[in-house]
Amino acid sequence: MPSHDIPLSKPNISTLEEQLVLEVLRSGRLSIGPMQEQFEELVAQRCGTSHAIACSSGTAGLHMILIALGIGPGDEVITTPFSFIASSNAILYVGAKPVFVDICPTSLNANPELIEQALTPRTKAILAVEAFGNPRHMDAYARIAAKYEIPLIEDSCEALGTVYNGQRAGAFGRAGVFGFYPNKQITTGEGGMIVTNDDRLADTCRSLRNQGRAVSGKGSVDGSSNAGSWLHHDRLGFNYRMSEISAAIGVAQMQRLDELIEARNDAADLYIERLLDIPELILPTVEDACTTMSWFVFVVRLAAGYTRYERDRVIAGLRMHDIGAGDYFPCIHLQPIYQRALGLAQGSFPIAESVSQRTLALPFFAGITDREVDIVAQTLELMISRENLSRRD
Ligand SMILES: *Cc1c(COP(=O)(O)O)cnc(C)c1O
Repeated sequence: MPSHDIPLSKPNISTLEEQLVLEVLRSGRLSIGPMQEQFEELVAQRCGTSHAIACSSGTAGLHMILIALGIGPGDEVITTPFSFIASSNAILYVGAKPVFVDICPTSLNANPELIEQALTPRTKAILAVEAFGNPRHMDAYARIAAKYEIPLIEDSCEALGTVYNGQRAGAFGRAGVFGFYPNKQITTGEGGMIVTNDDRLADTCRSLRNQGRAVSGKGSVDGSSNAGSWLHHDRLGFNYRMSEISAAIGVAQMQRLDELIEARNDAADLYIERLLDIPELILPTVEDACTTMSWFVFVVRLAAGYTRYERDRVIAGLRMHDIGAGDYFPCIHLQPIYQRALGLAQGSFPIAESVSQRTLALPFFAGITDREVDIVAQTLELMISRENLSRRD
């Protein structure tokens, strides 16, 4: 890649990750070993939960939580249409129905008032997402879930390390889940982690990730003599395990989490400083109650009145200048698969739809230089001016 390319995201890997991976390779133990245990302990500690269960992806983690909570056909799960598609795919996997509610235009998270209106006797859970790491309304979701005695599932795949009103992302609900794809705050290549304080849910997820085997030392559901043996399977499970190689990267990344969050914070601060004076841009805001903001991506949006076509041209213009930019996120309910599954019309969630046509993600990663941020900011300003000019033609 030529040196002037500025990618949308980039993992931050140090010699510590290299050392630990090498250690695993030399140990001969490549799955179900001490690295996974250590990684789980680090994440549980960070979230203040009694359990952390490593798995093969954030998506796999969500799938297991929904199964463990007994959610299935005929059930409804309330969620946001403005997210990465995996958050509601998990609901479809178990045969339940995602019930979308519109979002709040500042936090870009589901509007809590609309959640209460969307509840029905079939509602079995709320699946909430911290969009781009923003924890706003998580406490409100938890209150609604408690009031109606349904579980809150926290898709915190974009919020590892965020602290809001003294609470840590992942720990607001019955269970939370993180994802470690290379564009997240920390990566394991591919990987995920469930966090929970619920012992039974934790054991069920440990069994589900490992082909439905009984969790060793805890016996099986039917108490048979085979319990805990390698070829005894209590339930329909999956291979959703994480390899020791991935876990080793995770251990190193967790040890560097504060450093990585800080670097991302510096980049976000610099972007805000550089972009503040562009009147056509709406910048992300962080509430005071969010004492640690763990930024996932840096998403800005064009002011109301700009069209999807103009936003797409700005993105194309940035890419033409070798600057990575993305249209995070297209609305889930308008994706072809959701059109087939639910058939929700355009206009069903006007705020989410209006926001999603005008948002764009800018290059953002721990280690982006001040100069790179400057180049992105200047080019973005130029591309917006070009759109303004072409409007007058
Ligand atoms: C990244 C992400 C996921 C999925 O994580 P994977 O590890 O890629 O499966 C789920 N939900 C949200 C909101 C995400 O951003």
